[in-house]
Amino acid sequence: MALYSAAASVLAGLERGEGGLKSLVYNSGFAHVRQLYALVSETLRYAPVLEKLLDGASLLQAEKKLPPQLAKVLVYDLLFGKGVKCGGRWKALVRRHRARLEAELARMKVRLKVSRNEDLLAPEQAVSPTATQVPRYVRVNTLKTCVDDVIDFFKRQGYSYLGKAVSLEELKALSGKKFLLDLHLPELLVFPSQTDLHDNLLYTSGHIILQDKASCLPAFLLDPAAGSHVIDACAAPGNKTSHLAAILKNKGQIFAFDVDPKRVATTNTLLTRAGVTGCQLAQQDFLTVDPRDPKYSRVTHILVDPSCSGSGMVTRVPGEEAPSAERLQALAGFQRRVLSHALSFPALQRLVYSTCSLHQEENEDVVQSVLQDWGSAFRLVTTFPSWPCRGLAVFPGAESCLRASPAETLTHGFFVAVLELCREGAAAPSSLPAAVKENLGEGTEPGLAPRKRKKKKQRVKE
Ligand code: SAM
Repeated sequence: MALYSAAASVLAGLERGEGGLKSLVYNSGFAHVRQLYALVSETLRYAPVLEKLLDGASLLQAEKKLPPQLAKVLVYDLLFGKGVKCGGRWKALVRRHRARLEAELARMKVRLKVSRNEDLLAPEQAVSPTATQVPRYVRVNTLKTCVDDVIDFFKRQGYSYLGKAVSLEELKALSGKKFLLDLHLPELLVFPSQTDLHDNLLYTSGHIILQDKASCLPAFLLDPAAGSHVIDACAAPGNKTSHLAAILKNKGQIFAFDVDPKRVATTNTLLTRAGVTGCQLAQQDFLTVDPRDPKYSRVTHILVDPSCSGSGMVTRVPGEEAPSAERLQALAGFQRRVLSHALSFPALQRLVYSTCSLHQEENEDVVQSVLQDWGSAFRLVTTFPSWPCRGLAVFPGAESCLRASPAETLTHGFFVAVLELCREGAAAPSSLPAAVKENLGEGTEPGLAPRKRKKKKQRVKE
């Protein structure tokens, strides 16, 4: 499906109350979900302005077959976005009205005595200054190319390469067709935030992956050696899976799971495009994967990046409310179960838990509670000491975790914890904890309260 039609049907779905923005975007079947998410959320942000412009230019009266949602998306991109690039007959149609729409926009600015598009937005819809500072990050896919070749390619396309950054200030100051090598991650290039590379040959051929810097941390910190067996528990759409494959140099084995069939299909496409081999992708609830299956007996590394509230995503959408306390509790319960299940794989050495949430309930609290359940079998590892933003000090050692935010790290909001098997004085429990047996449907009823679960755990041990 074309970008604009996909965006229009997400808008229509939102108006009909068929779901939230994220779920509608991910269920749209459109391959480039981030591009679609960005277009829809920006269109929503500008919706009050767009409605006035459409009225003023009488666009919907003149073009009776143009659905209003599609009109909004097209006019957003024409006047405030990247300029309508694809779109076939709709592109031609909206361009015919360009002069009228531009004149209407100019009149609106004069009326409101403003000069910038952003100033047309109500204060609560204007992007926070921090959000506009998040650059466009480009991960070089080392399965297909190398950093030097990608730098040369962009130079030939007229971009100026400024070398390796030494401070976040340099990233913040990027503008025009300039780019840098990131100061923290070795295979990450940094462009100004407005840079759109979705149509770039390197992207469409899988040589580069458009991935926020914070979302590159989990695979980078899991750091499995080439040849390792690795599980990606909640894999779709697969950016971290392909990053893991690149770190493994396609040597070893990745078992990737996701419960959502549409997202699994998208993941399959993305992994193929990225040249990932040695990955078994399954549409399966990770909680039903049996850790004792001999297939997983060599799994030493696991990445757990489960569904979360997404409160760290910087694109603020009008009408999108903060998650309720009940929703956060439900998410945290699920996250604890997934994390605990992952810790029960018998050969596990190292695990990364991550979310794109800012809520302590989904982050430090989940890690603390699961570590408590596992006694002294696993410990939090302090990694990346130079990373400027650490976990909230809500339990001893929580500062070992990493946090990320637009203001402090120029990224989306994110949380990462690295756990390792303790080598001395403690071994992983010899039998599976009750919560894990429960996941596998072995004699306990689903949804037990934690206290009851503990009782069952004792019974299992007896
Ligand atoms: N790691 C992914 C990446 O970097 O591209 C993003 C993962 S996204 C935050 C969370 C994913 O967890 C969703 O795709 C969702 O379908 C999946 N999920 C939710 N419940 C699951 C379960 N029980 N088992 C496996 N996957 C699940």
